[in-house]
Amino acid sequence: MATNDVFTDALSRLEQIGKDVDIDPEAIAALQQPRAMLTASVPLRMDDGSMRYLTAYRCRYNDARGPTKGGIRYHPDVSRAEIQALALWMTLKCAVVGIPYGGGKGGVVVDPKALSPMELERLSRGYMRAMADFVGPETDIPAPDVYTNARIMGWMADEYETIHRRNTPGVITGKPIALGGSLGRDEATGRGAFLVIRRYAERAGLEPEKTRVAVQGFGNAGYHVARLLQEAGYKIVAASDSKGAIYSPDGFGLYHQKQETRKLEGVYCDGSVCELVDHERITNEELLELDVDLLVPAALEGVIHEGNAGRIRAKTIAEVANGPVEASADETLRERGIVVLPDVLVNAGGVTVSYFEWVQNRQGMAWTLEEVRSRLEARMFDAFDAMWAEFDGQGRTARAAAYTVALRRIEEALLAGGDHAYFSGGQR
Ligand code: NAD
Repeated sequence: MATNDVFTDALSRLEQIGKDVDIDPEAIAALQQPRAMLTASVPLRMDDGSMRYLTAYRCRYNDARGPTKGGIRYHPDVSRAEIQALALWMTLKCAVVGIPYGGGKGGVVVDPKALSPMELERLSRGYMRAMADFVGPETDIPAPDVYTNARIMGWMADEYETIHRRNTPGVITGKPIALGGSLGRDEATGRGAFLVIRRYAERAGLEPEKTRVAVQGFGNAGYHVARLLQEAGYKIVAASDSKGAIYSPDGFGLYHQKQETRKLEGVYCDGSVCELVDHERITNEELLELDVDLLVPAALEGVIHEGNAGRIRAKTIAEVANGPVEASADETLRERGIVVLPDVLVNAGGVTVSYFEWVQNRQGMAWTLEEVRSRLEARMFDAFDAMWAEFDGQGRTARAAAYTVALRRIEEALLAGGDHAYFSGGQR
């Protein structure tokens, strides 16, 4: 891991890429700190009657292009720096896919696997009570992220509506279908990533049957991208979750298993890699260094860094997780000819279908699954093509190309909202 915290790391990359692109320095300056950050202490009554106080965050990073948007994470390692970095990346991501949102993010410092379902519900409602004046369908719209899901979004939407005494489905996305959720939201991040990989494969001449893939993380994002890649003929040779990784050089099928030993049975997603047969057990670190064609980190940030970048053997990395490659590793990977398809493009399918959900809620409409999927495909291909136009033959990394697309769009919105040329006699 780098010595910098993840937010400092994210800012250093932004500055570096910003220098190489002709962007107004005021646009870069506007992205160097969050517009607003709320830190709260959420009281949680435990099942045994005791009381705990948990640190919770919500960040509205930048709203130049629309209300801020971003998930809520429950994890013991959540920190202020992590939430700010994730919210900055959301700002860039919404601009890359051209949806009318800024970036936000939230989180609670907690080990959710140690909570009972009732404790988890009380925590989720408590989080929304703490944030009820900070979020809203026209200000800041949360969604699921690591260890939160549709059921948790449903509890939060219900709490918000109880506080505000009106039906407001557009306050949160990734909800259960019965509460105004969108068809196709559960698979959207994985499907969006799959579409980006497919488009890249067409451009780079990769043949699915000859492409060996390792997937780190088997949650909402990792499971669906692995499933779709496998259905398209790609060979999944390794997969992992927080308990470890499995590897089979000839590839294997992926099974869906209920995590029956967990207290949170039925609350969290049920994909796990534990029951796979005919495999070798390896560590998560070993998985990253396998000799594969495509590496898909889909768990947490910072897993590829200065320390292991020189040992990565994959030819292409598709960042399904947010921030799996640290800025310190960018140059080593570039020098070694490894193409990194960046998170702000690859995992943008989730927020894109969240946007579709919000649009449906505001219109009182419900689209068919086919409609959601075809609109997602059009958005992802447009975003990929915009990135590719900057990437192809320009000597830039794919990340720099995607950042360029995003920064231009953010710059345009910022300047349209008040151009400093007015105050400097037309001079920039
Ligand atoms: P999730 O909670 O559904 O799953 C997380 C997965 O990561 C689980 O399989 C877990 O076992 C695994 N994991 C946890 N710690 C690990 C470790 N140390 N090593 C290997 N695996 C580990 O979360 P998710 O929604 O799939 O999110 C995964 C990543 O995708 C995150 O970076 C998230 O920000 C990003 N993402 C998610 C969405 C979304 O819509 N869910 C959208 C965009 C980006």
